[in-house]
Amino acid sequence: MSLSARKPTIAVKVGNVVIGGDAPIVVQSMTNTDTADVEATVAQVAALARAGSEIVRITVDRAEAAAAVPHIRERLDNQGVATPLIGDFHYNGHTLLAAYPACAEALAKYRINPGNVGFKDKRDKHFAEIIDIALKNGKAIRIGVNWGSLDQDLLTRLMDENARLPEPRDARQVMHEAIVQSALLSAARAMELGLGADRIILSAKVSAVQDLIAVYQMLAARSELALHLGLTEAGMGSKGIVASSAALGVLLQQGIGDTVRISLTPEPQGDRTLEVKVAQELLQSMGFRNFVPLVAACPGCGRTTSTTFQELARDIQDFIRAEMPEWKRRYPGVENLTVAVMGCIVNGPGESKHADIGISLPGTGEAPAAPVFIDGKKTATLRGPGAAAEFKQMVLDYIERRYGKGTIGRTAAE
Ligand code: SF4
Repeated sequence: MSLSARKPTIAVKVGNVVIGGDAPIVVQSMTNTDTADVEATVAQVAALARAGSEIVRITVDRAEAAAAVPHIRERLDNQGVATPLIGDFHYNGHTLLAAYPACAEALAKYRINPGNVGFKDKRDKHFAEIIDIALKNGKAIRIGVNWGSLDQDLLTRLMDENARLPEPRDARQVMHEAIVQSALLSAARAMELGLGADRIILSAKVSAVQDLIAVYQMLAARSELALHLGLTEAGMGSKGIVASSAALGVLLQQGIGDTVRISLTPEPQGDRTLEVKVAQELLQSMGFRNFVPLVAACPGCGRTTSTTFQELARDIQDFIRAEMPEWKRRYPGVENLTVAVMGCIVNGPGESKHADIGISLPGTGEAPAAPVFIDGKKTATLRGPGAAAEFKQMVLDYIERRYGKGTIGRTAAE
């Protein structure tokens, strides 16, 4: 099956990044630091940006957090991190944005959840106040519906209407409709207030894969606004990765989605940048964008009795990830490189020939020699304990030759 064409949406400029239209699908992430802690938040935003997050969302939940935002922006700018910051607002966004104009100015986009912008008659007033601030500052907004905080008045009204139908739909379908309507009605209201469609992004997050697919299909069919995809409360570790990839993979394949966030629950003290890597790997493995050189490695089997090949595959992967920020600057196009690290003669030479550069390590019973293939041709045979370091150096030399302009400044051993 080939990639379906992206569903056309209206492009939105968020700082120096474009979301929607024919722009590449944008990877974004969110911090989990206390935004009032400027140092910790700057460090995490910078780490997420270095990992490849093209925009980063931060919580703005109270006065101290709002006051910190311009300082965070300034510190990031001083470090050369231009990644746009998005403010995540709930309940008191209208108050914070009005009371802290430097915060409103420093943020590139405001995320508003229509389910908790205010209650009853306050809802429209608070919503209008935020839109007014977005208009005055020339900012975009994301209308981010979440089924955990769905507009209860709207849901009750739709449930009541449904109950009066001769053949009522099931409650789940009504829930989907409420989520979609909440996003679309809020977007229509923002536009009535003067915000252009080129300033609005929609999201409608739920935590179950099939519900997410259904809701986004409805949204995409009924709106041309740019769409932010994400499975909310996806969970920890492999569960979160699999659920997010399954849901987002189906939608992306249908041409739905302009920006993605993978909402993983990190392990305690875990690496927050994992969500960025997963988002990049999802887009890259589906063929939408290339972010880092792809390492193809076989899973290993009874033919690989030592851990040499697993170690080399991991080493190469880590090496590429660590070097990528520098390589991106020095070697334009390096993200398209493919590397193969294979465990034995069965598929090793064949897979290595398909890669730009590949190594086939010796399996059980094979002579202790590792042929290296470059651009489909066998060019060297490595032996002995130094083979891994030699192969890394060959990867570097290849990158320099193919993507570089000058001499390489460092070696794999550094
Ligand atoms: S390439 Fe060799 S070691 Fe790797 S999975 Fe296949 S048979 Fe096993």
